[in-house]
Amino acid sequence: MSLSPVVPEKRPAEELNRAVILLGPPGAGKGTQAKKLAAKYAVPHLSTGDMLREHIAAGTELGAKAKPIMERGELVPDSLVLRIVADRIEKPDCSHGFVFDGFPRTVAQAHYLGELLKQHGFRRPIVIHLVVDTSLILRRITGRRMCKVGGEIYNIYERPPKVEGRCDNDGGELAQRPDDREEIVGPRLKAYEKQTEPLVAYYTRLGLLYDVDAAKSVEEVEQSVWKTLHLARGGH
Ligand code: ADP
Ligand code: AMP
Repeated sequence: MSLSPVVPEKRPAEELNRAVILLGPPGAGKGTQAKKLAAKYAVPHLSTGDMLREHIAAGTELGAKAKPIMERGELVPDSLVLRIVADRIEKPDCSHGFVFDGFPRTVAQAHYLGELLKQHGFRRPIVIHLVVDTSLILRRITGRRMCKVGGEIYNIYERPPKVEGRCDNDGGELAQRPDDREEIVGPRLKAYEKQTEPLVAYYTRLGLLYDVDAAKSVEEVEQSVWKTLHLARGGH
């Protein structure tokens, strides 16, 4: 099947110049698409999940607070997450925009982000809602493996690496996240439905939300994300 229009490999960051938010349940493909979009514009991919896991790996106080909560599949308190995000978007590499993955996750976070973006002189964000049926999610989450070196995302059922257990890019070891075990998927989905799904209505009301069918292949979703972004930016 031909996929047109062609998704460009690179675009200037000045063309983006805002925050893009990827919203959707765990396993929807936010990280997979955020990495592609951020690489296209050479802007930072800001995954609060990755940032929290880095805190845990580094043994910080914040990491110690977050670890048991994440392992139970619950959301970390807003105050901890907001501190990380506020510090991160101050950095010079964020001056032309960034791609959020897994943030915001509560209405309070979305509210705070709106203020933060205003303070930093950014225009309004574009929110891409990755829509996927819960029936696909279990397979995506339990099959997920991440490279310990570069963070590349695989799926042992859908997108396996060429060599089992090794990253195609850098040969790094692939690992399963502790919260990707089947018994934690239920609590994570519940947290999504209760605390994060209200953001769909929140951003719809603000006229910032665009739905993308995330049940399709990674390449097809990438193309829809690209088309949607183009449309949301006013076709230029
Ligand atoms: P999220 O960041 O939303 O939790 P990920 O991007 O980590 O989701 O993707 C979850 C899992 O699903 C990963 O194993 C990834 O390789 C796989 N995946 C992502 N997008 C697709 C897709 N469109 N089709 C099939 N598998 C996908
Ligand atoms: P993720 O990598 O996005 O799937 O996030 C993994 C876990 O990190 C979540 O289940 C939460 O416990 C925590 N987390 C990540 N981002 C946030 C956020 N924005 N707010 C609260 N908790 C978060």
